[in-house]
Amino acid sequence: MSYAVRKSYALHKNDENYYFLRDKRDRKFLIDFLGGKCAGCGYSKDIRALQLDHKNSDGKKDRDRLGNRVTRYYVKHLEEAKEKLQVLCANCNTIKRIQYEENPQQPESSLSTALCVEREKTALF
Ligand SMILES: [Zn+2]
Repeated sequence: MSYAVRKSYALHKNDENYYFLRDKRDRKFLIDFLGGKCAGCGYSKDIRALQLDHKNSDGKKDRDRLGNRVTRYYVKHLEEAKEKLQVLCANCNTIKRIQYEENPQQPESSLSTALCVEREKTALF
């Protein structure tokens, strides 16, 4: 961590708004880094409807491991972010979550594929 960043952290140690804005900035950075649009349907109009999704639905593991520092962690580990995360819009993320809840025995890595198949079906209409 550079001196400037360390100094900035020290300055804002007790400033909740600072952390809110930093998390927001980190989230935007990661979404842009990962393509800036939904991996399911291509939606990119409003970043507020885009979410960082764990491709293999193993977000719980990360939350247990990193608490509320998941975004901050991946900003510093971009290769890992590329491997594990994708951007989904709120709709596609909800569909993926329901598919997983309905078929938890389904191999997790095929969930993204299932989402793409769903998208192709939709595209036919
Ligand atoms: Zn989508």
